[in-house]
Amino acid sequence: MSSKTINYMAMGIIEPKGRMQNLVSYGNVIEVDPKQPINRYYRSGTEMLRMAQVYLSEENHENAFILYMKYLTLFVEKIRTHPDYASIKTEMKAINKRIKDEVMPTSEKLRVKLLDRYQREYELFLANKEAERARELEREKARRAREAASNNSTKGSTIIPANLHVQIDPDNQPSAPDLGLLDQVVYPNDFPTGGGQRSNLLLPSDSLDREDKRNNIPSKPSFDRSQKPQYDRSDSLLAGSLRTVVIPQNTMDVFLQLAKTNTAKNVETCGILAGSLAKNRLHITHIIIPKQQGTPDSCTTMNEEEIFEIQDEQNLITLGWIHTHPSQTAFLSSVDLHTHCSYQIMMPEAIAIVCAPKYQTTGFFILTPNYGLNYIAECRQSGFHPHPNDPPLFMEAQHIQMDAGQKIKVVDLRR
Ligand SMILES: [Zn+2]
Ligand SMILES: [Zn+2]
Repeated sequence: MSSKTINYMAMGIIEPKGRMQNLVSYGNVIEVDPKQPINRYYRSGTEMLRMAQVYLSEENHENAFILYMKYLTLFVEKIRTHPDYASIKTEMKAINKRIKDEVMPTSEKLRVKLLDRYQREYELFLANKEAERARELEREKARRAREAASNNSTKGSTIIPANLHVQIDPDNQPSAPDLGLLDQVVYPNDFPTGGGQRSNLLLPSDSLDREDKRNNIPSKPSFDRSQKPQYDRSDSLLAGSLRTVVIPQNTMDVFLQLAKTNTAKNVETCGILAGSLAKNRLHITHIIIPKQQGTPDSCTTMNEEEIFEIQDEQNLITLGWIHTHPSQTAFLSSVDLHTHCSYQIMMPEAIAIVCAPKYQTTGFFILTPNYGLNYIAECRQSGFHPHPNDPPLFMEAQHIQMDAGQKIKVVDLRR
């Protein structure tokens, strides 16, 4: 069999309800860490809706739906487990109103739309499969006829064995179905595997298996990357990979200029990286420099509310932070790891840029998604404290891209 045919057989298509169930399950993947200040979750929710709006306007309905599901999971269910839940009564009122007026109706519309699309894709798949079966039968018939004819001509036995098995001749095998028709279909292999998510994704495998049997479809194949068909679903949050973060090339120079006075005094400077979502890429557009208190090896932001105000005014989402190491190399200290953990829990793509002017180096870091993030989230120590460094807790970000064509904007709240 050709590799294409094997792929086709091994993929296993999910029927529409199963696919919808996957989206919902993915939307349920959100945990509330009692150590994170509750207003971070409140902020994160605002940014989720901001991103959902972008996905909606770009007609990326799956991603919009996933974010609405996340929002619902967070505010209808998970947020209640936070020890400070009672303190956000006013905010919850606004959130509940938004859920009723906006999130519920929109996600319901999306559900109908997506189910409809999945249904059409599924019917296409079944039709394809049926056509392939018909072609195979035709070929088998022709082969039998040929064999009968050749048996007659050699005057051998004219009886065709009743238990004749289909033996596919390598030169005359069924052609692979048109995979192009299927490139919008999500397969079980596309479930996120770790990737910064801290809770278990519940795969509806039992119910799917039942469905599979009823519809006589090959059940979910075991995971095998090499069997994966080549198609592009990279714009789906379901793909589980980090979205690209685009950084204006001049960001570090501009920031070092803003930090210059502090750096000369051996004092750290920090800023928030904020930006927007477009076509499933995250673009850093702003450095927001909050009021702050720095030391040679730390920097504490003050008046967070001011940062939020700017972000709300300009519709910005939080994409990470940037800080200087005036006299050290570029790395993440134990305190930095904890600071970054808060960012990465809320936004898996959030990056930490560390500028080390003395060594003229820059680091672009994230916590290792399948180890460091969990480890630091679970670490109960504060201040500078040692962490084991094997396996590594942080790594160079691989999902960033420099853009020389964009210039970073600065909002400096220190003055
Ligand atoms: Zn640092
Ligand atoms: Zn720690």
